[in-house]
Amino acid sequence: MFKLAERMQKIPPYLFAELDAMKKKRIAEGAKVIDLGVGDPDLPTPRHIVEAMKKAVDKVERQKYPSYEGMYEFRQAVSEFYNRRKGVKLSPEREIIALIGSKEGIAHLPLAFVNPGDYVLIPDPGYPVYYASTIMAGGIPYQMPLREENNFLPKLDEIPSEIAKKAKIIFLNYPNNPTSAIATKEFIKEAIDFCIDNKIILAHDYAYGEICFDRYRAPSFLEFDNAFDVTIEFNSLSKTYNMTGWRIGFACGNEEILKGLLKVKTNVDSGVFEAVQEAGIAALRGDDEVIDEICRVYSERRDILVDGLNKIGLKAKKPKATFYVWCKVPMKSIEFVKKMLESAGIVATPGVGFGSFGEGYVRFALTKEKEIIKEAVERLEKFLGSN
Ligand SMILES: *Cc1c(COP(=O)(O)O)cnc(C)c1O
Repeated sequence: MFKLAERMQKIPPYLFAELDAMKKKRIAEGAKVIDLGVGDPDLPTPRHIVEAMKKAVDKVERQKYPSYEGMYEFRQAVSEFYNRRKGVKLSPEREIIALIGSKEGIAHLPLAFVNPGDYVLIPDPGYPVYYASTIMAGGIPYQMPLREENNFLPKLDEIPSEIAKKAKIIFLNYPNNPTSAIATKEFIKEAIDFCIDNKIILAHDYAYGEICFDRYRAPSFLEFDNAFDVTIEFNSLSKTYNMTGWRIGFACGNEEILKGLLKVKTNVDSGVFEAVQEAGIAALRGDDEVIDEICRVYSERRDILVDGLNKIGLKAKKPKATFYVWCKVPMKSIEFVKKMLESAGIVATPGVGFGSFGEGYVRFALTKEKEIIKEAVERLEKFLGSN
């Protein structure tokens, strides 16, 4: 009786629903399933952050409607964080707004700047929200392939100039989900120049900016010359501090772009619960050792998984960042994932779920203890031996 709007029909059904059902079935059958599918940290939110929230909840002034742009002190804490970790100066008044998780900001940005028929450049494979938010704004997604031979960076000079001229936004995401690739300085400079030349908003999704290994540091795009002319950077406390459930992130960079996003937000939501912002302040102002420790845990798991995969004949590189391993598989990704679940009881995400150029790959998340990852490798060895 109630037909979905045409724009919603254009958003593909949740591909992972079928896999989810299969996983539940295996569990019901008594299988001990190891889920390396979801990108949700297993580690707890650090204690001092939880305590800050508990204290804040008791304060009456924190129980009211928050401001749209976020508490001044939260934005101040973001500014200190960027200055301390990236050497980037941000004005808390003009160059930062709080978000209800960065996904919220990413989903609302196209509504602020995209007219029906405008192009939005999105990576393929990529985080599905770039595609969905473009469609919801009436825009046309233009998929930029991320190919292994180009280190999973899009080739900007392959984008036809008519499309580049009609594009309003380009979404980029480094360190990258799902490929775990990182951006070179040359690429970031090229992307900024491309956006300046074509008057395109550079929306950089920096959700994994702090999840780095082997002394690598993933730069903020705002560290580069002229970046503030075109860039909005989306950032989040979700992955940095194991706070996915808290729903707090922020956007920073170009003032005009932030104002546009805030105009949408003031008409949709009423900001982030201030007690959660107080927890965010405690996180951002806390000891950076907390982040180092989280990265140490992931890098240890990464070594176990990647060494194991390579030993049993699957090809995966050790990522320098993110908590994902992007692994080439010898068949269609959905087929591989289904078989792996059936015979080894392991869940991973088929690459094709992130776009057609993700076909032939599977994404493993490093969000389980190392003992469990070791067991996953053993099971995989048996599984591949029998196939
Ligand atoms: C996890 C993730 C986000 C957003 O997370 P929030 O919890 O909404 O801040 C954004 N982009 C990518 C690529 C992610 O993996």
